[in-house]
Amino acid sequence: MQVILVPEGGFCFGVRRAMEMAEKAIAESGGGATLGPLIHNQEAVDRLAEQGLRAIEKVEEARPGEVVMLRTHGTGPATIQALAERGVTIVDATCPFVARAQREARRFQEEGYDVLVLGEPDHPEAIGIAEHTGGAARIIERAGDLRDQPLRKRVAVVCQTTQRLDRLQELVAMLLPRCIELRVANTICDATSKRQEASVQVARQVDLMLVVGGRHSANTTRLAQICAETGTPTHHIETAEELRPEWLAGVERVGVTAGASTPDWIIAAVVARLETLGGTVAGSRG
Ligand code: SF4
Repeated sequence: MQVILVPEGGFCFGVRRAMEMAEKAIAESGGGATLGPLIHNQEAVDRLAEQGLRAIEKVEEARPGEVVMLRTHGTGPATIQALAERGVTIVDATCPFVARAQREARRFQEEGYDVLVLGEPDHPEAIGIAEHTGGAARIIERAGDLRDQPLRKRVAVVCQTTQRLDRLQELVAMLLPRCIELRVANTICDATSKRQEASVQVARQVDLMLVVGGRHSANTTRLAQICAETGTPTHHIETAEELRPEWLAGVERVGVTAGASTPDWIIAAVVARLETLGGTVAGSRG
């Protein structure tokens, strides 16, 4: 059984940067906290907690004087203000691409547009982007969500970075006839689309696709959906232990890809498990 690895799988630029910032904070301050899990991968978050960087859910849980990291998904200005008032040292690990989406949303709002955030309404990144407009922006999941909603004549769109381009295109097509001015900031992350394209290419060549990453990771879940849409049986797993040997029955080629927040050591563990089950790695991770 051949194991084909998608070279683009695993930590993206923003997550790698956040993890490096976390390691630096641990080395310099002996630990601290992250507001929400730093990245959407439980194993990585547990490992950070063991090193003294615990995840907290509320600003009130932060201890005055300690380091508090803002995660890659970013957060709203009111929360940042509340942290500052609590007397913590803020380390901002917001991915620069997410920060760009926040800035664009704020700029559109200040320029008087009806701002729409194409994203998941309960996802911290989309919520954070909307908060940068003072809560004025609406988060919508699909173009169809707007069918019965009023719209102003000047509309602007920004995207949660993990959105699919076809969803943005669908939204733009629906908005154009309804407004006199439409501004679009394509804030979809390049790392996401490149990983998706490379993963789809591999998914088309194999009998089984494994997508490794946290269940709460939007980009991993999306990656699994996109791979499944090729028609190739696809499983989203968080750890090597979740890989079930019966999935491999009759499989000659298995593809492995991973979400942006999946650490290298978890991908390596999945590959090692495949090797013990008769797999031979066909490609090398770039
Ligand atoms: S997927 Fe893109 S936007 Fe998200 S953290 Fe990684 S580099 Fe940043």
